[in-house]
Amino acid sequence: MTTRISPPDKKALAFAKEEIARGGVVAFHTETVYGLGANAFDDRAVAKIFALKGRPADNPLIVHVHKNYDFSALVDFIPPYAKALARAYLPGPLTMVYPSAGKVSPSVSCGLNTLAVRVPSSPTAQAFLRAVGLPIAAPSANKSKHVSPVTAGHVYDDFQGEIPLILDGGACSGGIESTVLDCTGEVPQILRAGLVTREMIAAVAGDCTVYRMQAGEQPKSPGMAHKHYAPKCRAVCFTAEEAQAARVCYAEELHAGGTPYYVCERALLPEFEGNALDLGGDPAEMAARLYALLREGEQKATLLIAIEPKERGGVMDGVLNRFCRAFGRDHET
Ligand code: AMP
Ligand code: MG
Repeated sequence: MTTRISPPDKKALAFAKEEIARGGVVAFHTETVYGLGANAFDDRAVAKIFALKGRPADNPLIVHVHKNYDFSALVDFIPPYAKALARAYLPGPLTMVYPSAGKVSPSVSCGLNTLAVRVPSSPTAQAFLRAVGLPIAAPSANKSKHVSPVTAGHVYDDFQGEIPLILDGGACSGGIESTVLDCTGEVPQILRAGLVTREMIAAVAGDCTVYRMQAGEQPKSPGMAHKHYAPKCRAVCFTAEEAQAARVCYAEELHAGGTPYYVCERALLPEFEGNALDLGGDPAEMAARLYALLREGEQKATLLIAIEPKERGGVMDGVLNRFCRAFGRDHET
């Protein structure tokens, strides 16, 4: 199969519509990361997504809909705070989890009685969703455990020859996956941090809690329990206070004939002499740059030496969650 990369022009959208109607899989740009989409009503099409990604069968998918698509039939109940959040932040990088009405393929939610719904703001995603006129089940368009894709080229690197079309909308401006918000309780609860922050949600909904998995418990958002986002090269992580240990690590890798690269925020770059990848200056920039840096780093480096950014709260909750999981460091947001 040839994998075509195309902007969402008339011809590409007509092809995407046909491909989805016959149970195929199409990759598409969103404002967070690229998605790998299939008809959410079609069991076999949804199964293809899991097979293509090598995704564990207990990690549910998000259903993506057009901004004018009435998804109320897909879910059992939409609490008033969720309607208010939708008015404030949708279309945008916020996924809301509702009690499922059981209308889409059961494999979308991996047997959970809830359904995650997202309305992306990317014009490419909107054009695709309008053209197909169906709810599209889509995880990030990367092989399972690999770094999420933020350009059409990244999707191509992972799925060349395996999918017919990547709808190219350029680089993803957000850069980390959507905030996942449980809207099944009285108070909304963040299951995965993202660009719509706890503070933004609390400002509209009055309150917002953050889910923390207890030892031995089944995770509420199964994806968060899986190893994720890892670059293909070796990677280690230090705090800014451990700068000296990071420098020793760099020198050792160099001495062993390897090619080490630091990954650190812009303000800290002058402290580290040698190869370095600039994570960015502020939280939004760090979110937008992180995955592209990890993919660039795994090509260039034998060892990535990450220095944990210092800032906390807001968008940094989401950035640090991805950063620490990519570099194998425990982190509490
Ligand atoms: P991805 O699109 O690859 O970022 O993965 C989707 C994320 O959404 C995973 O972390 C899932 O665990 C989460 N998710 C999808 N559906 C649900 C659901 N019904 N309940 C809780 N989390 C969900
Ligand atoms: Mg993913």
